[in-house]
Amino acid sequence: MSTHPTGAEPDRPIASARPIRWIDSHCHVTADRFDEDRREVLERAFAGGIESLISIGSGYGIQGNAAAIRLAEGDPRIFAAVGVHPHEAADLDDEAREALRGWLDHERVVALGECGLDYHYMNSPREIQLRVFAEQIALARELALPVSIHVRGDDPDAYADLLGIWLAEGGGELEGVLHCYTGTLEFARRALDAGFFVSFSGILTFKGSHELREVARGLPLDRLLVETDAPFLAPQGHRGRRNEPLWVARVGEILAALHDRPVEEIAERTRANTRRLFRLPDHPAKATFAATDPPTNGHENGTRSPAP
Ligand SMILES: [Zn+2]
Ligand SMILES: [Zn+2]
Repeated sequence: MSTHPTGAEPDRPIASARPIRWIDSHCHVTADRFDEDRREVLERAFAGGIESLISIGSGYGIQGNAAAIRLAEGDPRIFAAVGVHPHEAADLDDEAREALRGWLDHERVVALGECGLDYHYMNSPREIQLRVFAEQIALARELALPVSIHVRGDDPDAYADLLGIWLAEGGGELEGVLHCYTGTLEFARRALDAGFFVSFSGILTFKGSHELREVARGLPLDRLLVETDAPFLAPQGHRGRRNEPLWVARVGEILAALHDRPVEEIAERTRANTRRLFRLPDHPAKATFAATDPPTNGHENGTRSPAP
């Protein structure tokens, strides 16, 4: 077993005939930063052990959700989540609302999200974020869909508001995941009690993430997921570069070291948790890409700075 608690190991070739298999539970592979080489990035991921991934549609304009569905339609290893990111909450008008309804009914959509609260960038006013988040929980309940939640780690109010709305809107009847978790251990435990899974990203691999690692160490393995949030948050050793689903293994390796378990076991358990939450098939069929043009978001030329 090879684990690197510092996450500082250099690039390593994928040489094994049977790479350890992971699910990237949250990535934005429809982002325009993948427009030039999306197919190569995805093939590299699948060849390197990524069993499947959840392509998050929100965060690139509400209409950008459609691209996640198109991508998932072309490959059984790709599932889509659609929703309204807190950055875009102010853009949810009646037309977008109707489109969202339609997307959520699509057979390749496994979750509503990411949605939630972000008081750091405050791209949408707080009151609107609260209302749009509540509205989406109600929608997820109606459709019995799990929810992928975004909440920023540097604002205690956001966490309190998030859990308050979740419980007030009946989210306790749903399952959800706090994606890219950077909050406290205490809040994470409250979130587990409320039915959440907790997902860790490349931040866990950063040299300075001592507190977050203690949080990850303190949480039970049957409630943890791993993700890249690509193209953002490339792991230690790749920082500053574009992140990609293949690198979710780095997050899992840190988790393995923290829990003193074999990497293979962490991969298996996080895969099982992800399948359970999103009700994924045990063995998604192998596939090659349909010979269609890669999806694009139709707008946004890398001008959006806040990380989804
Ligand atoms: Zn997010
Ligand atoms: Zn995201």
